[in-house]
Amino acid sequence: MNVQTIMVIGAGQMGGGIAQVAAQAGYKVILNDIKDEFVERGLKIIDKNLSRSVEKGKLAADRKAEIQALITPSTSLEDGKTADLVVEAAVENMQIKADIFSKLDQICPEHTILASNTSSLPITEIAAVTNRPEKVIGMHFMNPVPVMKLVEIIRGLATTDDVYKVIEEITLKMEKTPVEVNDFPGFVSNRVLMPMINEAVYCVYEGVATPEAVDEVMKLGMNHPMGPLALADLIGLDTCLAIMEVLYKGFGDSKYRACPLLRKYVNAGWLGRKSGRGFYSY
Ligand code: NAD
Repeated sequence: MNVQTIMVIGAGQMGGGIAQVAAQAGYKVILNDIKDEFVERGLKIIDKNLSRSVEKGKLAADRKAEIQALITPSTSLEDGKTADLVVEAAVENMQIKADIFSKLDQICPEHTILASNTSSLPITEIAAVTNRPEKVIGMHFMNPVPVMKLVEIIRGLATTDDVYKVIEEITLKMEKTPVEVNDFPGFVSNRVLMPMINEAVYCVYEGVATPEAVDEVMKLGMNHPMGPLALADLIGLDTCLAIMEVLYKGFGDSKYRACPLLRKYVNAGWLGRKSGRGFYSY
């Protein structure tokens, strides 16, 4: 299958990054969000990222313009009519994703592959709202997308080998490394990472240590490039909480219960970097 046009749903930190790497790989990109201002914000971040690459001498200035010219803004899912692949990167909420996928299933041509960048939600359940579950797959990029090499590719129960191969090829064309996993809550990345972040939040909640001290222990002691609480702020505390809820519900095991402090911060609107405040202030 010859994929030429990729539609990205959600122009937030992940969607913007995915649109950027797709355009850098030469694909035509449709970047969609619910409001013009959200798409604009995504395009501005892409512009800033590319400018930084030009300043560092990693990207020729004329390449920057070429890449940007490949990205078309959109606020209508109907634009999916021309997409060969859709990568959905809207908020981590099953109802919202189910709504997007059932609409895309009606709008997109029969050959279109529908992928989700979900951090933890079951691909099989997302696929079940469509009439093409064999063409639904997880394409889980890491944050920040232009920098991180991994794409966790998640096979839903019905995903075909052909669809898997197409997504694997596109991942390689984006100069990323695909790793194949099966569809279980949190896949591999967040099943391992998120309980660690949640435990770090418990350390603060129980007064074991300050956020700075927790992060320092993990950076200096475990050689992590970033402490778990700084990472939680980068991911978004709302996304972290949503993933813990998926693990808790999916496995029915109390070891995945979200720390009350994490919930409190999210309820306060302290979502990390994107809201200016989380475990740290930005
Ligand atoms: P974000 O809050 O930065 O962006 C989400 C965007 O989706 C917003 O711009 C919002 O307006 C838009 N949106 C919401 N509903 C929409 C709809 N119906 N149609 C179109 N756009 C809609 O969130 P994010 O961090 O970019 O996360 C997006 C997805 O990527 C989530 O599923 C998340 O779990 C996943 N993810 C996040 C990370 C991370 O580190 N943040 C890493 C990997 C995967």
